[in-house]
Amino acid sequence: MSADRIPPLACPDLWQAVMAAAAGRCQCRGTCGKNHAKDGGRCPREHDHLAHRHGGGTVHLIAAPAEPADMLLPPHRAAALPKRQLAAWCSPCHDATRAAARKAQHTAVPAAEPDALFEI
Ligand SMILES: [Zn+2]
Ligand SMILES: [Zn+2]
Repeated sequence: MSADRIPPLACPDLWQAVMAAAAGRCQCRGTCGKNHAKDGGRCPREHDHLAHRHGGGTVHLIAAPAEPADMLLPPHRAAALPKRQLAAWCSPCHDATRAAARKAQHTAVPAAEPDALFEI
């Protein structure tokens, strides 16, 4: 059974701690591209098991790096982040934030760096 899928942040205690700190609510503050302005600047989605239902279906929040740039870390490095560097995310915000971070990283890479990779 070694093929079990291991989520980046597999530790349930850490997940619980992150969710408790976030009060079970997505901590996105607009990095996903929506500004969440009508919700006080923060995504309104709450985890199904920690908050009352809104009748809007089940929301599963995930614990992921609070800094969008850290979402690009390889899983073993993201898993090593301390709790204070993690945040609760709903999956649409997480995916959109990570995509935006990836895009930003591509445009932010200094021009000299790719050249160095291909140095002969
Ligand atoms: Zn969200
Ligand atoms: Zn968001």
